[in-house]
Amino acid sequence: MLWLFYPETLLLLLPALILAGYASYKVKVTYAKYLQVPTRHRITAAQAAEEILARAGVTGVRIERTSRPLGDHYDPRTKTLRLSAPGSPSVAAVGVAAHEAGHAIQHAQGYAPLALRSAVVPVASFGSQLAFPLFFIGLLFRADFLLNAGIILFSAAVLFIVITLPVEFNASRRAVAALKGSGLVTQEELGAVKEVLTAAALTYVAAAAMAIMQLLSMLLLANRRR
Ligand SMILES: [Zn+2]
Repeated sequence: MLWLFYPETLLLLLPALILAGYASYKVKVTYAKYLQVPTRHRITAAQAAEEILARAGVTGVRIERTSRPLGDHYDPRTKTLRLSAPGSPSVAAVGVAAHEAGHAIQHAQGYAPLALRSAVVPVASFGSQLAFPLFFIGLLFRADFLLNAGIILFSAAVLFIVITLPVEFNASRRAVAALKGSGLVTQEELGAVKEVLTAAALTYVAAAAMAIMQLLSMLLLANRRR
């Protein structure tokens, strides 16, 4: 929101904003396209997730439906995998379910970046809420302490978003390997799954670019005020 008061920072954010817009469009279009394409074996998304978890020896994970479109996620606190289309036999739904199962396997195996991300969550959500108000007051009153506090708090949020990248890439790699190894999808369908997961990964890359550019504009504004 800083760019509302300091329009020149918009120049820094603009490429990331464009990337974010493109990524969000791309993931919606790709997902919608492959939601219409059933896998040859006609297994549902929930069945695919169950099969992948069973093959990895992961037990005790519940699979539920979420009403949020594209709101698919794995919740490590309750060991719950929530899918937006658990009953769909489509390439898109199966691919996303495999990705979420990848997160459940990361959790079960104690994959370090996931554990680190979970540890940073409280600081990051607190930080992202408080960072801008503090920083803004710091700019108005030329208060170094508040400027620094804002920057440090926002850095925690940036750290969270950056750690998310290896976690997401790794879950997609696991999904592709599991689908390939289990023969749940054909070679051609695997290509489509990769397309969906790459589009989803791009949204995380865009979010990281945006956060880094926001941090950069905070540093520039703070330097000018000092
Ligand atoms: Zn994910």
